[in-house]
Amino acid sequence: MKTVIFEGTNLSIGKIVCVGRNYVAHAKELGNEVPEFPLIFLKPPSVLINSGENIIHPDYSNEMHHEVELVLLIGRKIKNSDLVEAESAIAGYSVGLDMTLRDIQNELKRKGHPWTLAKVFDTSAVISEFVSIRNYKLSGTERITLSVNGKIRQNSTLDKMIFPPAEIVKFISTKMTLEEGDLIFTGTPQGVGKVTRQDKIEAEIENIGKLTTTVV
Ligand code: MG
Repeated sequence: MKTVIFEGTNLSIGKIVCVGRNYVAHAKELGNEVPEFPLIFLKPPSVLINSGENIIHPDYSNEMHHEVELVLLIGRKIKNSDLVEAESAIAGYSVGLDMTLRDIQNELKRKGHPWTLAKVFDTSAVISEFVSIRNYKLSGTERITLSVNGKIRQNSTLDKMIFPPAEIVKFISTKMTLEEGDLIFTGTPQGVGKVTRQDKIEAEIENIGKLTTTVV
């Protein structure tokens, strides 16, 4: 079981719900349409690592991509929430990486198969430490950046999201119960790209935090 330290105590991480194509410029860079409602997929908590740990590059892919994302920590159980309840269920924020095997994903898309094998592999989700909403209120305009070996690849702001955090939480809660310790990855801005072994990734969201990891 994966746990994180949040507000001084150990919190068990539940399911990880990820949103795809939540920034217009990113949907377009991969040749996708802008979605009418959030595109959702899941990762199990067993794939999660913390900042400072290494991403292990699977040998069955030749195109692993970085995706920097704002991560929401759910603080209590909700189902069929309205926007106010959805907002109040968000307990904290972190910086996350949704590592993706783009070559595998393209093949799965072509066949009309689920994305699971492109998105779910050990070390495919990386998180920084969490900031509690008690200590920081998200303005929604924070800068989100990612660099590889010191070169900036992704650089945007959170207000470019198509579906903002509370709307995402509301939508997911109409499809599945969200519980304390669940994480939501809210999608990546444009600039995704390939990383190879020995690459050092640094990601940051203004006022939220930073993470560092190396591909091995
Ligand atoms: Mg993503």
